[in-house]
Amino acid sequence: GPALGVLTSGGDAQGMNAAVRAVVRTALRLGARPYAVHEGWGGAVAGGPGIRPLGWDDVGGVLHVGGTVLGSARCQEFRTREGRRAAAANLVRHGIDRLVVIGGDGSLRGAEEFRQEWPELLAELVAAGELDEAVRLAHPRLAVAGLVGSIDNDLAGTDMTIGADTALHRILEAVDALRSTAASHRRTFVVEVMGRHCGYLALMAAVAGGADAVLVPEDPPGEGWRDALAEHLLAARGAGLRDLIVIVAEGATDRAGNPITSQDVGALVTERLGGEGARVTVLGHVQRGGRPSAYDRWMPTLLGYAATQHVLSVADASATVLGVRHNCITLLPLERAIAATNAVRDAVAAQDFAAARVARGGSFAS
Ligand code: ADP
Repeated sequence: GPALGVLTSGGDAQGMNAAVRAVVRTALRLGARPYAVHEGWGGAVAGGPGIRPLGWDDVGGVLHVGGTVLGSARCQEFRTREGRRAAAANLVRHGIDRLVVIGGDGSLRGAEEFRQEWPELLAELVAAGELDEAVRLAHPRLAVAGLVGSIDNDLAGTDMTIGADTALHRILEAVDALRSTAASHRRTFVVEVMGRHCGYLALMAAVAGGADAVLVPEDPPGEGWRDALAEHLLAARGAGLRDLIVIVAEGATDRAGNPITSQDVGALVTERLGGEGARVTVLGHVQRGGRPSAYDRWMPTLLGYAATQHVLSVADASATVLGVRHNCITLLPLERAIAATNAVRDAVAAQDFAAARVARGGSFAS
């Protein structure tokens, strides 16, 4: 049967293993030969032990494990043409001309570039005497299916990315834990959560955790935000609330684009709430760790299954992202998904929030 590579690339996310397991076992059931590409694109560039055939049992016992058993990395060489040529040579020598890539938008962008270049890369290898013409002719195209592994939930056109739900659980465990000590001491806790361009985790953690205020990149406050926030928290204290929680997304700014850090907010509280010292907690990488939630096991399993079916059945080489939209598996052209994601990011950076909303929600309405 055809050979198929699976890799996890970029920042890890809980639920990647469920996707890998589904890809491997679906491929085997469909008579294909699945290969692990280890350490992101690095395994493809390096070849050798970086590319390894996988059997049914190789992906046993990983469903409930966080992170990625394939290893993940950022690979600078793959950003260069020579790196991608080496990767093409190593993959095609195993007969691999189909890839399921599980990663963030950077990894998927790399996959798209690789897919487009594939015919040229193979032609160059043949011209350089590094590849048999017969091998090139047998694998004229690269088929790519992308799954978005990112706790930030930052891909336009899909409801949830792999890992976002578990990250939200991690954040809520922390917020709940902080709430009890906050109540004991009548203290304000400022919690910084991940999300450089996307405030999803901060906003949903605020809603689900009952936070008193939240700062996200998509809705930056105007000039008077310090007074407004201080008044809001003082009013809450005045009403008898003992535990105050403010959630700040990593990428929060004011309307002029100046960063608002959790330290800024902590200092503001300390200064304005009658000498009450705030406590700042930066959650950091605990958000990316731990056991995947139920959702981050079944959703990536369905996606891995669908991605493998897709990549084994497509006659053309169109690169596709598989995601979830309105609770159904959905296929998006990779190029459009990336373009729409970039449009959201650019619109947020340009403080054009109406455009950001359109880019985030409307792109795949058709
Ligand atoms: P993420 O996938 O989590 O967004 P990165 O943006 O760091 O993480 O991308 C992960 C890896 O994907 C990079 O280290 C690189 O190997 C590859 N990559 C990213 N962007 C490109 C690109 N434009 N061209 C080729 N490879 C890329």
